[in-house]
Amino acid sequence: LGRRELRPEGTIVNIGGAKVGDGSVAVFGGPCAVENREQMLATASVAAQYGSVGLRGGAFKPRTSPYSFQGLRWAGLELLEEARAHTGLPILTECVDPRHVERLAETIDGFQIGARNMQNFELLSEVGKAGLPVVLKRGFGCTVDETLAASEYITAQGNDQVVLCERGIRTFEHSTRFTLDLSAVALMKQRSHLPVMVDPSHSVGIPALVEPMTLAAAAAGADALLIDIHVQPEQALCDGKQALVPEAFRGLMTKLELLAMGI
Ligand code: PEP
Repeated sequence: LGRRELRPEGTIVNIGGAKVGDGSVAVFGGPCAVENREQMLATASVAAQYGSVGLRGGAFKPRTSPYSFQGLRWAGLELLEEARAHTGLPILTECVDPRHVERLAETIDGFQIGARNMQNFELLSEVGKAGLPVVLKRGFGCTVDETLAASEYITAQGNDQVVLCERGIRTFEHSTRFTLDLSAVALMKQRSHLPVMVDPSHSVGIPALVEPMTLAAAAAGADALLIDIHVQPEQALCDGKQALVPEAFRGLMTKLELLAMGI
């Protein structure tokens, strides 16, 4: 269903009014995890002030270690709602369990399926049925073919509002957290009519590399970007090492705008 030939003009995905695939580069900024009210609202304000079209933020965090912060769960969702009310920006958040789909769908603007769940096919079918847009992250051990096949579990439910997201794959290179596979961006855009997002934050895991990889992703044809922001990264409960401070996010947005203008 996602083959490019079927829709050569491409698909525009509308996440609560934020358009992905319309020719612009849509930025979804926000914290990796919703940690508390103050952090969420401050980060959301920064995202909105510097030009995000949507807010990211994990209420449910599927962490590698069961002893790491797992997210505020439903309380986190309430804070995301509050952040949306403050900024007017739509919210994108991860769903980790088919049993959560219905309740999340009553509130959020778009589902995120994390890398660790890309091949959780029951979950994909359930979110596909919910009638909301879905950002599907590539599993870090999965090929482009497997990613495209996974997206069909969602589109097969009659939901074409799917964004494919490259977030880095596991390679022998350990200097960065994962290896950002930008060739996958160009390839997925060639092979699929679905728009493509890039998450430079989770792929490189190093703040100083987020900006160059953001610009490279935009140059490779990415339709959207997912950027971690934290007002106090040293105190973050989750992935603080990769988050941009507000000033760095502002700089990145300025350069992205200049790139779009061809300067
Ligand atoms: C995230 O974006 O919050 C996240 C956990 O990313 P990934 O699933 O790509 O690891």
